[in-house]
Amino acid sequence: MSSVLPFSTENEQIVSYNPATGEEIGRVPQASGESVRAAMERSRAAYSHWRQTSFDERRRLIMRARDVILSEVDEIARLISKESGKPLGEAISMEIAPVLDLMQYFARNAEKLLGPRKLKIGLYGLLGRSSKIVYQPLGVVGIIPAWNYPFSIPLGEAAMALMAGNAVVIKPSELTPFVGLKIGEIFERAGTPKDLVQIVTGAGEAGAALVDAAPDKIMFTGSVATGKKIAAAAAKNLTSVVLELGGKDPMVVFADANLHLAADAAIWGAFCNAGQSCSSVERLYIEESVAEKFTQMLVDRTKRLKQGLGTAEDTSIGAMSSERQLKLVDEHVEEFRRDGAKVLTGGKRNPKLDGLFYEPTVISNVRNDMRAMQEETFGPTLPVGTFQSEDEVVSLANDSEFGLTASVWTKDLKKGKRVAERIEAGSVTVNEVLYTHGIGQTPWGGFKNSGRGRTHGLEGLMELVQPQHIHINRLAILPNAWWMPYSPTAVETYRGFAKYFATGSVVQTARLLPQLWKRIKELR
Ligand code: NAD
Repeated sequence: MSSVLPFSTENEQIVSYNPATGEEIGRVPQASGESVRAAMERSRAAYSHWRQTSFDERRRLIMRARDVILSEVDEIARLISKESGKPLGEAISMEIAPVLDLMQYFARNAEKLLGPRKLKIGLYGLLGRSSKIVYQPLGVVGIIPAWNYPFSIPLGEAAMALMAGNAVVIKPSELTPFVGLKIGEIFERAGTPKDLVQIVTGAGEAGAALVDAAPDKIMFTGSVATGKKIAAAAAKNLTSVVLELGGKDPMVVFADANLHLAADAAIWGAFCNAGQSCSSVERLYIEESVAEKFTQMLVDRTKRLKQGLGTAEDTSIGAMSSERQLKLVDEHVEEFRRDGAKVLTGGKRNPKLDGLFYEPTVISNVRNDMRAMQEETFGPTLPVGTFQSEDEVVSLANDSEFGLTASVWTKDLKKGKRVAERIEAGSVTVNEVLYTHGIGQTPWGGFKNSGRGRTHGLEGLMELVQPQHIHINRLAILPNAWWMPYSPTAVETYRGFAKYFATGSVVQTARLLPQLWKRIKELR
């Protein structure tokens, strides 16, 4: 059984609200440092059993957890929508479906992906030695996610960590604690061994306590500022950290692209989850010759979108998650205005709705030297700039401290691939936008300040294990020439190692054999 922490000794609570209505959803305990440390100790005990389980057993657990989710897709989607504000459709299409896919993939493939790997060790092989890598679990993985994909991100990371043989402690965002607790409940109902998956609720202090409790890995998703704090705190225990941080992701549209498709993609890429995706389109660059026509297409499409309660099935744009985030978006739009950009549609809090709703906003005449084109906005804004040449747009796209994702739109796939490889970002898509976090088989992570390390894919799985090198000498009958005691014969042999053996050539090494034999005889 997985468990949820009892109330902390301070008895402080976190209150969770529905951002679309302001209604209180409920209260959860703010875990104290002491209770987080106790959770870590229980996790270590759970890990000592789990690490010995077979991949089959782990697979069965993850598949049972999938069954629990499948049995209540709509309830889970409603909870995600209520606590985060996102449309119900997105809770299913962008969280539940992708994480179910990720779970089946790693459940079925982790054994193969983490299978032992033989190493080529050159001439040592001829001396009867062999080397292989086996992948050992790490121990307890601490997961500290953001609020914007409160279900799929921590659950996906937890499923991968469990498949690799680790125990997991999740500290959900203080804005979405009930979705976090739901993950704990799902594992509990799937029959997870006691304390293998624990949820500790609370705000930043609880996250900091989890870092201080020295898990064996920290998987963090959130802002650059918090990422830096966590990296510094983790360094005290030499805990390794994967950091999934912010983005200011560019979308590059060439004049030869399918403009209708590119416009549809831009709208989804900028406005899904009310623009609160790390890989949202936050800057769009359109080739100047088609800029006017394309920008109008964006405005027309934006005006057709329905904004409202996420729980209504025909809502395309829901509420934002917090007042603080909404204010930041408003500030950025005001800055755009002040700096001379043109707000073509939207540009304000939705006056017809009471909750945290900001209208989807299209802005033209933007330049990279505007502050709002450099800082992450994380809201439903789509600033549109123009370019004239491939070189110019590559340098515009790369003119950012971030590098999470980017997209390139053109019918000329050669040009698309060329430009993609010149853009500094962890994932670059050609004629696609934003969605590759949903492909669990592919690695996810950023260049520059967008992060360190990877989640998902083989690269992400490798973050959750430690490679162990096993080296075997099948001909252990003679002493090694480099063992003690040393002598002039020994030193002459080592000169031969440097000159002949280290060439990697069998023919050259053969010249060393008489000297080697002399040395071996000396040792025997
Ligand atoms: P945040 O940094 O404020 O908080 C993230 C998490 O860290 C929360 O659970 C919070 O309680 C915890 N936390 C806060 N202070 C802490 C501390 N000192 N020690 C330990 N934990 C602490 O971020 P947010 O506002 O929740 O999320 C928005 C950010 O997340 C955006 O920048 C977005 O781009 C980024 N994000 C990145 C990805 C990605 O995959 N790269 C995905 C989603 C979101």
